[in-house]
Amino acid sequence: MKTRKIQTLIRIEQINLEKSSELFSTDIANFHGKILTKDIKKIIVLSESCRPKGPFIRDPLQENRRFSKEYFKTTTKYGSIERMWLCYSPKLDAVYCEPCWLFSEERKAKDNWREHGVRDWRGLSKKIKIHENSQQHIFAYCIYEKWRHNETVDKNIEEQIRYQSNFWVQVLERIVNITLALCKNSLAFRGHRESFDNEYNGNFLTQVQLLAKYDNVIKQVLSMPNGSIKYLSHQIQNEVIHCLATHLKATLTADINSSPFYSIIMDTTQDITKRDQLSQVFRYVKIIKNEKDEATSIEIKEVFLGFTEIYNHTAAGLHEEILNLLEKHHIKLSNCRGQGYDGANVMSGIRDNPMLCICIAQLII
Ligand SMILES: [Zn+2]
Repeated sequence: MKTRKIQTLIRIEQINLEKSSELFSTDIANFHGKILTKDIKKIIVLSESCRPKGPFIRDPLQENRRFSKEYFKTTTKYGSIERMWLCYSPKLDAVYCEPCWLFSEERKAKDNWREHGVRDWRGLSKKIKIHENSQQHIFAYCIYEKWRHNETVDKNIEEQIRYQSNFWVQVLERIVNITLALCKNSLAFRGHRESFDNEYNGNFLTQVQLLAKYDNVIKQVLSMPNGSIKYLSHQIQNEVIHCLATHLKATLTADINSSPFYSIIMDTTQDITKRDQLSQVFRYVKIIKNEKDEATSIEIKEVFLGFTEIYNHTAAGLHEEILNLLEKHHIKLSNCRGQGYDGANVMSGIRDNPMLCICIAQLII
């Protein structure tokens, strides 16, 4: 009975969508196998994008999942804004990217966002976010916006922009890899003199010079005249380190939060200037999933999230610091199931015991 009801609902949804598809002449499905001339592209850009209001068809093969009009919007710190690039084809029952379909580079590998659309509804939010942050999409969207405002870019200029954009992506890729190699080995970046004329100019610039001997991209950067933007200054090095650290921390905290429970290991240690630093280590079980989002195995992970300077060495001070850290990293305290500390004299106080404080905090939450 229930199955028949769902089948009827699906049929009604199909009829509604077929009606709405007639309203959208710009549906990607109408252009399969056709050559998109400049004039056709212009008509598509200036016409209404294929964004029906739904309701959308349930897919029995995907546990009755379906597309939702909520995906057409995104939430930013300035409020909710429309994702003007995202379109839905009623004929294909798939979502696609209009700017990438019209303007992305043909030579790139097969990409469903600009060809046949994406219709795997599992984890769609994540797929949309990855796509809208991709360099290829951002570039296509820039050209799309120019066309929308009637500023068609000349073919040669378009190719020049594309070449420049690809070149700097390659430069950044190399800078990021040099940064990762130095960080992994705990090597200092800067030397006493930071100039390519100086023989001892630090590990970062030495690596850049070495790479330039065998790599044309870096060689081109080094041959630019003095005063050109090269993305090699110590400010850029710090920015790259900061970006990588932010990304790494976000990945690790997402990993910790995706596991049902975790334990914390905290200890203080003095640095070279005799300042006490609290090291933060998290231990958890990572559930490994396959492409269908099914759990296949588990992995025990122990990760170090960083140091923080400690001013109050009492158990109450440490307790506050630990709670602040958990809050800062958006890690749920209610999932904490184990704690490990050093420092017997701090631990010995009954009223000042961080373990006791955290247990009480858990009970309150
Ligand atoms: Zn796109």
